[in-house]
Amino acid sequence: MRFVTFRRADGRTQPGVIEGDAIRPITTPAMLDYLRLAPHERIAWHAAGELVPLTGVTLEAPLRPSRNVFCVGRNYLEHAKEGARALGRELKLPDVPTFFTKAPSAIAAPDAVLHLQADVSPEYDFEAELAVIIGVRCKNVREEDAMHVIFGYSAFNDITARDVQRAHGQWFKGKSLDDTAPLGPWIVSADEIPDPQSLAIAFRLNGVEKQRSTTANMIFRIPRLIAELSRGMTLEPGDVIATGTPEGVGFARTPPEFLRSGDVMEVEIEGIGILRNTVSIA
Ligand code: MG
Repeated sequence: MRFVTFRRADGRTQPGVIEGDAIRPITTPAMLDYLRLAPHERIAWHAAGELVPLTGVTLEAPLRPSRNVFCVGRNYLEHAKEGARALGRELKLPDVPTFFTKAPSAIAAPDAVLHLQADVSPEYDFEAELAVIIGVRCKNVREEDAMHVIFGYSAFNDITARDVQRAHGQWFKGKSLDDTAPLGPWIVSADEIPDPQSLAIAFRLNGVEKQRSTTANMIFRIPRLIAELSRGMTLEPGDVIATGTPEGVGFARTPPEFLRSGDVMEVEIEGIGILRNTVSIA
């Protein structure tokens, strides 16, 4: 199933499930409330009867998480290499995943224009990523059990103000500016993606491919990420884990390529779809 959050013409926003070219509304106030239900209770909240045509609604981010998006830095070898090269540093691969977070206020909708401030950074960059959505409260999850705590998957763009990322001792500020966490266009339920480690992932800027890889190239695979993150730390339904970006990001290019106003970005992930956003920098 593909889960969305949609806005009707009258402004009402609610979650739903796509059925063909329509949406079956879900009657919880928000997707987060739906995910907090026990899995076996969820179907009772799918509205009988009414279907809302997809034409005539606007898709919002499928989920507004209640807390920071968990992100993984340097989780693709070629991206770790290009980053070290661009910064003139020796490549050192970590033994454990490098976790950092983005503020939930950075979440943005599919197809939205992202409003970025020119006076905050001249170095906005893109990062195509597979997002994992947690479906149950869990802690100390073993790798062999990790797939059972996943509700579904979505596409994510970990937009980064590179100079701000570097200026601060850690990455939070440069990763948390408003409109720098587009998520969507929907969440695909985990049953429809039996192997999330074999998905093609690509990024296009104004139609030109900049990133192309496969989730098979992750250094730390999804079960390891969930096991490490949940060690001694409770994960909640609706938590989002962005699993890292492959090579080809703007700052590591020669010469570097940063986002410009009017740019159209597309994150495409096999089995999920295309997350498209336009950049406005002023
Ligand atoms: Mg990233």
